[in-house]
Amino acid sequence: MSNNEPPTPTKHCPDCNKDYPKNAGYFYKGGSGRKSFLRRCKPCHNIKTMAYASKRRSCKPRPSGFEKLPPEVKHQILEDLKHNKTKAEITREHGINYRLFMRWQAKGQIAEYERIEKLKSLRGNNDKFNNPHIMV
Ligand SMILES: [Zn+2]
Repeated sequence: MSNNEPPTPTKHCPDCNKDYPKNAGYFYKGGSGRKSFLRRCKPCHNIKTMAYASKRRSCKPRPSGFEKLPPEVKHQILEDLKHNKTKAEITREHGINYRLFMRWQAKGQIAEYERIEKLKSLRGNNDKFNNPHIMV
């Protein structure tokens, strides 16, 4: 593969479309045993990883919310809502921040949980359908 390489090997970066000396000054090491160089030059690699990290940050919904509550609390809240308890009562009883509760409702997290619960009961509460993360 490297038959045609000049005495000072260079490596092409596909992102900025330039050739650099093939050494650790221009490329990060990677791969198994960190013996080979990564495909992109250092600046391009940094740009890519930063873009990837920020994309992950912005796409990933923070795992805070209604679904994080213990199942029995979630269930009780649904019952409370069914029995027309006020939000003030519900949040006080469960020690939940009122505004947080409002946010869960605005985001539809509680309605979504209720939907899943309904589906589960329709299916006769089979164990395999008890995963609250199941999407139907
Ligand atoms: Zn580059």
